[in-house]
Amino acid sequence: AEEDAAKRLAALPLRDELRGQHPYGAPQLNVKAMLNVNETTYDVPEDVVDAITKEVRRASATLNRYPDREFTLLRQKLAEYLNRDLVSDGASADLTADHIWAGNGSNEVMQHILQAFAGPGRTVMSFPPTYSMYPLYARGIYSEYIAGTRSPDFTQDPQDVADQIRQHRPHVVILCSPNNPTGTALGLDVVEAAYEAARESQTMVIVDEAYGEFRQPGTPSALQMLPGRPRLIVTRTMSKAFALAGGRLGYLAAAPEVTDALRLVRLPYHLSAVTQATACAALDHSETLMANVEKIKLQRDRIVTELRRLGLTPAPSDANFVFFGGLVDKKAAWEHLLADGILIRDVGIEGHLRVTAGTEEETTAFLESLRRHLQTQR
Ligand code: PMP
Repeated sequence: AEEDAAKRLAALPLRDELRGQHPYGAPQLNVKAMLNVNETTYDVPEDVVDAITKEVRRASATLNRYPDREFTLLRQKLAEYLNRDLVSDGASADLTADHIWAGNGSNEVMQHILQAFAGPGRTVMSFPPTYSMYPLYARGIYSEYIAGTRSPDFTQDPQDVADQIRQHRPHVVILCSPNNPTGTALGLDVVEAAYEAARESQTMVIVDEAYGEFRQPGTPSALQMLPGRPRLIVTRTMSKAFALAGGRLGYLAAAPEVTDALRLVRLPYHLSAVTQATACAALDHSETLMANVEKIKLQRDRIVTELRRLGLTPAPSDANFVFFGGLVDKKAAWEHLLADGILIRDVGIEGHLRVTAGTEEETTAFLESLRRHLQTQR
């Protein structure tokens, strides 16, 4: 049956570059510990569920009308939220609704950016191992993807990043900080060096901070670099720290002219009234939602410490997951964990796997299962 379906697909006049390709997506298995897509594993707290329900109920009465195309209230609330983040970094809070754009997940936000600033005949560059959707976004908007390089320990050196950008002169460069799948955060010196190198080629510089809220103390967000840098964009998402992956709300901060550019490519009314109501209610309860972030960071740090004790090589992490190497047979390890009801991520790098930091119980189950697996390997 699968073969027949493949034959019928092949008979369609599909774009050449899509032939033989597989859709992106990690396994969605209903097991006891789902630690493979970096969600918050805590359920949405009851009072937030109530607030969302109330707002969605209110929005329901006007679903006969198209939603606010400008999602004005949501942009205001996102600006206020990011301003609080800026203040926590000791920076000034100068974002307004005009600096904010949002979409159905930061994936859609990223697609809008590339539709506006990349496209046919243009190039998109990022630095693998990094978020594996970046080349797929490029393919989707008919752009060429350029794979840069990073150090063996997954860090990025400012001079090296600048040299690579000067060499390739991409139309858009994507820095991911903290980086998925490695957890590596970038210092502001790297962002600054990238922006300066990109100045000559008028390259748009995106810093994907999907995991920004999990950064270690002392690691600042790139948000404070926005003033005076009209080609810098910082993207965020409510899918991770806000425990709202199912709500599909990603956003960005940038100069107001950048958001004007994105209005040219977005589909009409792309953010449903239900989505806007959900996100606004969640933002009104950001402190409650974010209470779990500190707990998750503790488990993240615990995973790094414990994996080292097990003789493995976890990368330092500023995110809500840990990337670790030193496995003799990553597939055997992944299968052993799954047999114990623990689903983690194989990102296709030899000897390495990635695990999301969940609750204390989930982390314990993961560490215990992995310990047993390693014993069978000796
Ligand atoms: N950027 C990075 C680095 C990610 O890891 C993810 C989700 N895995 C996203 C963007 C997209 O997330 P969402 O569309 O849910 O906002």
